[in-house]
Amino acid sequence: MNLIILGPPGAGKGTQAQSLERDRGFIQLSTGDMLRAAVGEGTEVGQKAKAIMDRGELVPDDVMVQIISDKLDEIGDQQFILDGFPRTQGQAEALDTLLAQKKKALSFVIELKIDDAILVERVVGRFTCGNCGEGYHDTFKLPAQEGKCDRCGGTEFKRRSDDNEEAMRARLVAYHGLTAPLIDYYAGKAILKSVDGAAAFDAVTGQIAAILDEN
Ligand code: AMP
Repeated sequence: MNLIILGPPGAGKGTQAQSLERDRGFIQLSTGDMLRAAVGEGTEVGQKAKAIMDRGELVPDDVMVQIISDKLDEIGDQQFILDGFPRTQGQAEALDTLLAQKKKALSFVIELKIDDAILVERVVGRFTCGNCGEGYHDTFKLPAQEGKCDRCGGTEFKRRSDDNEEAMRARLVAYHGLTAPLIDYYAGKAILKSVDGAAAFDAVTGQIAAILDEN
């Protein structure tokens, strides 16, 4: 079974994909994480992507399609969940071609539905443990003991450079203009499943589990 998780920035795609990876053996393929790793390593792609990401705009399709094509080869036959890809009609069509060439198929596209009003507040203020990746938030979820990760005890925390209000507004514009039309694209292929992304984390996980179990 192979999935796409689709939704605006801050909808919880990454945390739901991580939970599916932990509980159900999917490989999470997050293009945002791949780009941030490239930025951290200072590769050519990373150097070009950094400014685009900080502005909240999209990295060109040809770069993203190449990254995903290489990743799909790397993971072999393992089941995957695409998180943050595709983000444009061009990427979605290129993905169809890649999957056909590599003899793979999509089972479902899971859309996390959520209003913009909630998203800015969710994203501005979030941070993660630099060691285990556990997610936190200045308002909604501070570590129980200040400065110490609840999960692993780590003391280094990270904030994304694009989790500020200005970049977030641009990311929402990119989402509504370029990515949201993919909802119709996948509805047309009859593989779209929508869940309430504004619900509590466990409730969203439960809705996704129900979709996977009944199909
Ligand atoms: P994310 O972690 O998914 O929120 O992605 C962070 C940033 O990486 C986005 O705002 C884009 O600048 C870039 N990015 C990630 N995935 C893609 C993609 N599929 N197409 C274009 N840009 C992407």
